[in-house]
Amino acid sequence: MKLKDTSYTAEEIMALTDKYLMETYERFDFMAESASEMYLYDETGRAFLDFYGGVAVNSVGNSNQRVVSAIIDQAQDLSHTFNYPYTIPQALLAKTICEAIKMDKIFFQNSGTEANEAMIKLARKYGTDHFGPNKFQIITATNSFHGRTFGSLSATGQPDSANQLGYLPGVPGFSYVPFNDLKAIKESYNENVIGIMLEPIQGEGGVNPAELEYLQGVRNFCDEKNILLLLDEVQTGWGRTGELMAYMHYDIRPDIVSMAKAMGGGTPIGAICATKKVATAFSHGAHGSTFGGSPLCCAASLAAVSEIIERNLAINAHLVGKDFMAKLTDLPGVKEVRGRGLMIGIEFKDPIAYDVKHHAFDHRLLVTAIGEHTVRLVPPLIATVEDCNEALAILMESSHTALEKLEEKRKSA
Ligand SMILES: *Cc1c(COP(=O)(O)O)cnc(C)c1O
Repeated sequence: MKLKDTSYTAEEIMALTDKYLMETYERFDFMAESASEMYLYDETGRAFLDFYGGVAVNSVGNSNQRVVSAIIDQAQDLSHTFNYPYTIPQALLAKTICEAIKMDKIFFQNSGTEANEAMIKLARKYGTDHFGPNKFQIITATNSFHGRTFGSLSATGQPDSANQLGYLPGVPGFSYVPFNDLKAIKESYNENVIGIMLEPIQGEGGVNPAELEYLQGVRNFCDEKNILLLLDEVQTGWGRTGELMAYMHYDIRPDIVSMAKAMGGGTPIGAICATKKVATAFSHGAHGSTFGGSPLCCAASLAAVSEIIERNLAINAHLVGKDFMAKLTDLPGVKEVRGRGLMIGIEFKDPIAYDVKHHAFDHRLLVTAIGEHTVRLVPPLIATVEDCNEALAILMESSHTALEKLEEKRKSA
């Protein structure tokens, strides 16, 4: 929908938003009207370089033409049926995904948090089926983020975050241990634990990659205890880190993996994949979803996933990201640049992340901040070295300005 097709001004649209929406978001001070590849455009046609990619969603680029055509064609044929009939996009997407990431079975959901709910449910069902009703506990990591519905928010190891404050009590059966600490997992283990749930790179927790020995050690520990490794790849999945799935960097396979964000090319879809052995716990009637696996979203997702695979976007993320990360360490005030591929966190020594974000926006670069110290970059995976150089130049100026401002504030204090 374009503004010129309505009877409203941009200011009126913003005012309507403030009036009628329950606003839990800190918005950028502009209206996005359209988008193409690496750019978002406002109603006057001003271009903003997109380095947040709808929060790691628009990996195949904004308004990817293959995805757009798939949506239009599929909407004309069949948008929704529920899961009684067989449908073509669902079958083809399932085959494409399972073969590409070497998993046996898939279940479709509508979002990341829902995919994680399904992962938790499948793990518990498997535990109950094989070991009895007490085998339901799941160990997760502090600083993790698994979503905003009750199971996922209870799995999230951030007791003081806005994600949990005011909503407790959550779902019982989760315990939290420090990330990248295998010993802590072993100490927390008891016979009622059915699985260990981790992000290969903690996203919302500040872009913290799991160390190689850690994740491989967790895999071995799970095998030793005959329990499940549950990986949340909602953000890291589909090329983001330089491999189709981040677990591929570690040469391991999870028992269940969740995915969402990038897989839909901008449409709401999530999924879990599991090994055959675990997947059988989802027997007839054990789980379901009205919208999950809709032909419309599956067709869009098939286009997006095929783009990622056929255009080698994971490799692009690896190459471009590596070059970019090295250059980002030259930013003033940087403490550490973390991440992998095009999932990058820039931690500053001072609490200037929000300021950097705002200055970057003033120069028409879109980035997000996670906490006061860390700026996160998750651009579309089609980003080129030139796009990154452009972003780098703006970030250079933005961090300089933010540091100067901080200096002045400190002087006057
Ligand atoms: C974004 C995210 C989620 C939640 O996904 P939604 O689609 O917002 O529900 C879960 N886990 C991780 C790792 C995420 O990054």
